[in-house]
Amino acid sequence: MVDCMEFLAGKELFELEELIEIFGEKRYRAKQIYEWIYVHNVDDFSSMSNISKSFREKLKGEFSLYSIKLENINKSRDGSKKFLFKLWDGNFIESVYIPEREWSTICISSQVGCAMGCKFCATGKMGFVRNLSAGEIVEQLIHVIKSENLKKKRVNVVYMGMGEPLLNFDNVIKSYNLITDPDGMSISRRRVTISTCGILDGLEKIRALEKIPKLAISLNATKDEIRNELMPINKKYSFKDVLNFCDKLPLKKGERITIEYVMLKDKNDSMEDAKRLSKLLKPFRTKINLIPYNPIDDVYDSSPMDRIFKFQEFLKKRGFTVTIRDSKGKDISGACGMLALKSI
Ligand code: SAH
Ligand code: SF4
Repeated sequence: MVDCMEFLAGKELFELEELIEIFGEKRYRAKQIYEWIYVHNVDDFSSMSNISKSFREKLKGEFSLYSIKLENINKSRDGSKKFLFKLWDGNFIESVYIPEREWSTICISSQVGCAMGCKFCATGKMGFVRNLSAGEIVEQLIHVIKSENLKKKRVNVVYMGMGEPLLNFDNVIKSYNLITDPDGMSISRRRVTISTCGILDGLEKIRALEKIPKLAISLNATKDEIRNELMPINKKYSFKDVLNFCDKLPLKKGERITIEYVMLKDKNDSMEDAKRLSKLLKPFRTKINLIPYNPIDDVYDSSPMDRIFKFQEFLKKRGFTVTIRDSKGKDISGACGMLALKSI
């Protein structure tokens, strides 16, 4: 079986430099290759026009540029698209492209499946298969940007596809560094958000980073009793501990942590919940994103829109910034929490 070390996408500059030295080539060649991959997103070695043909041939003999293959694009009536990729080992993952007026958002996966088993999430129901490499994460972005002919400066990236990013910490952070490197993909750190169900261990590692990524915490409940049911990870890392921990992160001026809250009918959407949420979040620098539930089975129902608006109004009156996620791609099972490879 092919080893993922044989793919160049996903390598940092220093790794390419080490590699280039083995070939007896000058170090600056590594920078050129780095730019061909991350700045120009070339399709193949033959497009690397400032590299000699003989060296390109040598590279081609030893490596592939990319490891994931676009298998299918599923188009939604609302303009969003779900990309299905085949991995080198035969597994599949999905990414979602969501066009907006001036910006577009690309939602990328960090794992095949997810071990967290949240009851309302299709990926959770799939179970965990494996972590993605940094290359497999970055390549999703490269493929979507190329396929949609997007300007990198106009792209938001969210780690909200399949998987729990903080349980694949090293590869996710490596991919984050590649995506945000000003000499490479060059997507502003302000435009990249990592979403987590609240893995305290991972958040501790985040705190130790030189550059702390923008974070979103999937809260989805205001009481342990309900969160334990919806998100079993709460029994290990209680949401109050997670919020308290996040409060100690050195955020930049004006920066806030996004609290995601999936609205489930008669589960977490009462006015009592709104009150509790307001009290709970008062001390913290957060903004709230209410997510209309995208049903995946008949266990939970989505809250009616008028209830979601009431919930939002209540919180807004108490001074919170509260947005409601525009739930795109439902008809192609590409909306939040619906990625579970039904399309294969
Ligand atoms: N594992 C990470 C990131 C992927 S899930 C996390 O949990 O944060 C991304 C978001 O989708 C989370 O906020 C999650 O609560 C939400 N989500 C999951 N299933 C959903 C569904 N069926 N409908 C709406 N949102 C869902
Ligand atoms: Fe995993 Fe996030 Fe889905 Fe929970 S909501 S099962 S953590 S992907």
